[in-house]
Amino acid sequence: MLIVQKYGGTSVGTLERLEAVAERVSRTRKEGNDVVVVVSAMSGETNKLVSYAEHFSKAPKQREMDMLLSSGERVTSALLSIALSELGYPAVAMSGRQAGIQTDKSHTKARIEFIDRKCIEKKLKEGNIVVVAGFQGITELGEVSTLGRGGSDLSAVAIAGALEADLCEIYTDVDGVYTTDPRIEPKAKKLEKISYDEMLELASLGAKVLQTRSVEMAKKLNVNLVTRSSFNDNEGTLITKEENIMEQPVVSGVALDRNQARVTLRGVTDKPGIAAEIFRKLSEANVNVDMIIQNVGHDGTTNLGFTVPQNEVEMTKVAMSELNASQSVEYDADIVKVSIVGVGMKSHSGVACTAFDTLAKEGINIEMISTSEIKISMVIASKYGELAVRALHNAYELDK
Ligand code: ASP
Ligand code: MG
Repeated sequence: MLIVQKYGGTSVGTLERLEAVAERVSRTRKEGNDVVVVVSAMSGETNKLVSYAEHFSKAPKQREMDMLLSSGERVTSALLSIALSELGYPAVAMSGRQAGIQTDKSHTKARIEFIDRKCIEKKLKEGNIVVVAGFQGITELGEVSTLGRGGSDLSAVAIAGALEADLCEIYTDVDGVYTTDPRIEPKAKKLEKISYDEMLELASLGAKVLQTRSVEMAKKLNVNLVTRSSFNDNEGTLITKEENIMEQPVVSGVALDRNQARVTLRGVTDKPGIAAEIFRKLSEANVNVDMIIQNVGHDGTTNLGFTVPQNEVEMTKVAMSELNASQSVEYDADIVKVSIVGVGMKSHSGVACTAFDTLAKEGINIEMISTSEIKISMVIASKYGELAVRALHNAYELDK
């Protein structure tokens, strides 16, 4: 098999940890696999470099930031390669440039455009373990670029896709993806498998585990992803195509999003074009609107509610102040969004009913509802967030 393994910052955070990573990589090699390793910078290193730059300038040039930040990953890749050779396994470290990773020109948030797979393949054919510095590439003009914070996951998935690897393992300090946050519900279970779409919908559960962009790319390139811990030998969670999951649970997980705020517009003129104007203003301000509800109009006006991320409330206020009409606007950050997600919802009825019943039994009022094919989201008062998660987890028997 050809296996891509990515190790995050905490997994390579100290020399001892790097040593343990070298042991694990060599084990994988010894089992007869070709191995490409993608590494992050040692934990805290990228932040340290950012603070060094800020010592000199409030707005350092992004090109220079890329030169600076890309160095963190290069350090780890070279150290790991040295450690592997010492264990008797030939290895080579490669920068993004050497690995043939070409990106667009947007410094500090570049997108991978293309990977020249021959670069890595050549080194593999010579019998090496290839250790690639994550989070970076090179532009058409030969400038060093980085992929945005947390971008090593993306490097790993893109490389796995380009090489058509059998597996892309993402090693972090958590065991995998859980049915819900175990800090809220200790009975949460680790999922053995989950589909790409469910993983994307459960982003708030998986955010610590996997970057959303990487899951999207894995889906596009059809990469089988496994997230697991580098601190133990537990099997992780496989993130794969829906067709690869035989027994699809109706509900796979319950997520809690504490980062939403609700905006309510009252007395909105009830005629064509008004909603378009409101949401055009929001989109021009780059606000990410999530749930939207509009009430049945009355006396020529209506009420309109929607949610936005809490840190975009200020932007929203500016956008709303630019509307000509006379509606009033209220903001409420004291809400949370609870979501249940599962591909099995497509073929089962009564899923929503169970959710509403469950919250009703706990005396929790549902203030907004939205659904997609595989998700039901409900906005409720913040103080009930954790209670709702536990009640729903129990109602769908996710602890079984
Ligand atoms: N070192 C980079 C960061 O801290 C990239 C990564 O770890 O994925 O954001
Ligand atoms: Mg990371």
